[in-house]
Amino acid sequence: MNEATIVALATAPGRSALGIVRASGPLCRQLALRLLGCEPLQPRRASTRLLAQNGRAVDRVVATFWEAPDTPTGEDLLEITAHGSPEILRDILQAAIDAGARPAAPGEFTRRAFINGRLDLPQARAVADLIAARGAAARTAALTRLEGGLSRALEDVRAPILDLLARIEVRLDHPEEDLPALPEGEASAAMERCASVLERLLSGYERGRARREGARIGLFGLPNAGKSSLFNALLGRARAITASAPGTTRDVLEEQAELGGHAVTLVDTAGLREDASDPAEREGVARAERALESCAVAVLVLDAARAPDADAARARETVAAAAARAGARLVVALNKIDLLGGTSGPQTEAGVPCSALTGDGLSALEAAIAAAAGASPRDEGESLLDDASQRDALAGALEELRAARSEIAARPGTWEDRAADRLRRALAHLSQAAGENPSEAVLDQIFSRFCIGK
Ligand code: GDP
Repeated sequence: MNEATIVALATAPGRSALGIVRASGPLCRQLALRLLGCEPLQPRRASTRLLAQNGRAVDRVVATFWEAPDTPTGEDLLEITAHGSPEILRDILQAAIDAGARPAAPGEFTRRAFINGRLDLPQARAVADLIAARGAAARTAALTRLEGGLSRALEDVRAPILDLLARIEVRLDHPEEDLPALPEGEASAAMERCASVLERLLSGYERGRARREGARIGLFGLPNAGKSSLFNALLGRARAITASAPGTTRDVLEEQAELGGHAVTLVDTAGLREDASDPAEREGVARAERALESCAVAVLVLDAARAPDADAARARETVAAAAARAGARLVVALNKIDLLGGTSGPQTEAGVPCSALTGDGLSALEAAIAAAAGASPRDEGESLLDDASQRDALAGALEELRAARSEIAARPGTWEDRAADRLRRALAHLSQAAGENPSEAVLDQIFSRFCIGK
């Protein structure tokens, strides 16, 4: 157990309804007595107490004490829920520090959970990912890892390799016993099964990364087509300025949003009017064109109420060509259908009919954008692996497994020695991916990503 007792605010700073102060370590019992009165807290029972500092009442709080080792950090743990006033919370933290606790470093609670065996390293990483995750899919993925999904998948690979290795080694170590050879077909099939689990984990890595960071979705079109209005409607809150005079969106605006359960970055751009006479707008157009290059999806917004003309045709051509160059998918939004007097029909080849004003057709537009962003239904392989060093370790394990398997083909009858070597190396890579025996530097790097109080 760690010597120091740590304390931190577990909720976001600022004024709010409630704020939580957490302490972990051997002094928790004493802290509770000193801050909350002489009657000890019953473990795992929330109690209402008057919290005092130097005899001065600070707040009426709800306090819960957990006894080691069966706690989130593996140590005695004290959680105090107070009213969310920064002054009250500061006083509570100070009172805990006066009583012998020290302020926690970022991620230190989770680090202790790891050191005390409450979480393995992939799970500890998943805690940070869960807090940072944008979009339902990224959250589910992080939660799966927190629940030990990656560790289980790695175990599914490790157990058969250990079994193979044990059977090979016993024969190599005891030649005098004349044990039967491991059937080559069986060994090869077992290696193949392990390799395909690894391949599945690895193939999800890139897609998972795009999902976590959020694909960029750019809105393009002629001035006044309703890009800013759609941007706002999709965000569900107003940020871009809309106006009825053309050419008011001079800056590229970016906002993070969740579309169809996936994190995305929505980018509103200046109108693509090629004859822009106003220099400020010309610059905006250039920025819009640059923005398109980094977008996974280009949404071309057309004014459905306007008769098709050369400008609109050119805008369509420009955006389609630029999207093709940038490898982005094109989605066409036929906006302002409310002006046509009808409601949204099904998506046609021309585009998705919608109205930023009435909200009609917006869920179809969202779905079309999410589909174009490559949003596929979640599969385990996609969500489990998210870290570049883990990916490298698994790629290393896969390479060794393939090499072990080719030893069987290359040296019928005498493959075991070399294959065993390869399998041992594959196991070492798997341990590395599972975060076993990490160095202090690796731990520091992982836990520094956390916020204080986690
Ligand atoms: P942008 O220049 O493409 O960004 O266009 P804006 O979003 O600024 O919209 C231009 C004008 O069209 C504004 O007056 C909006 O209120 C109006 N507008 C945008 N979307 C719709 C829509 O779906 N229906 C109707 N009737 N008007 C819209």
